Amino acid sequence: MKLKVLWMYHDLMDLYGDKGNIQVLKTRCEKRGIDLTVDTCTIGEIRTISDYDIFFLGGGADREQNLIYEDLLLRREGIEEAMKSGTAFLLICGGYQMFGKYYRDQDGNTVPCLSFFDYYTVASDRDHRCIGNIAVEVNMDGEHFLAVGFENHGGQTENVSFPFGSVRYGHGNTFNGKFEGFLNDQVLATYMHGPLLPKNPMIADLVVRRGLRRNYGDVSLDPLDDTLETKARTVMLERLGVSLENRQEAEKQSD
Ligand code: GLN
Repeated sequence: MKLKVLWMYHDLMDLYGDKGNIQVLKTRCEKRGIDLTVDTCTIGEIRTISDYDIFFLGGGADREQNLIYEDLLLRREGIEEAMKSGTAFLLICGGYQMFGKYYRDQDGNTVPCLSFFDYYTVASDRDHRCIGNIAVEVNMDGEHFLAVGFENHGGQTENVSFPFGSVRYGHGNTFNGKFEGFLNDQVLATYMHGPLLPKNPMIADLVVRRGLRRNYGDVSLDPLDDTLETKARTVMLERLGVSLENRQEAEKQSD
């Protein structure tokens, strides 16, 4: 099987090790004999986005978002084609924001975004920046689990029709918020850096499966040895005091 990944603005949109996500996709595919190729694309480069199975856009500070937005908006039609053709999207933080209506920065400047979705983002004041470790309870493609990551964003994202998960520790879409990210059948958009995929290999595999779906339908992937990754996630979840079970206990207590 083959998988083609397009890594957008690899040279500009890359915060807190977002590039590690690409590394994980490569490694997990290699171990399973899936032939994965990664093409990068930066400002001014021509790419047919619908040629790709996975579109990856990492996070960026306001400066980078300002640098890329004009180029990104010029690619709107190409991205729409890709959505129609079944490409899977993984969008992190600044990349997540760019698929909504707009991003308004701290100075009140509005960066127009792609408007594929109805959410929009407005920067908070300095006292309400969302920074730190985050744990999110996720239901994705029939799987229910806890994901961990690191967030650092001023942007408060409102009007999200379908979040990626419920915040169990940290902030998520808004300061002290209940929900994190955005999810639909093709798009996973999240504030979780970390980078996301090394810490959450189940998400990596869901993204790989979504990417393969375009050409191969629903495939099951050979399990890999995730002992180390699971240990790392468990350490963080224990530190944050979060488990799937204690959610139910907390709910019972508040009844
Ligand atoms: N500039 C955006 C914000 O602060 C995105 C930051 C990021 O990608 N980490 O909200």
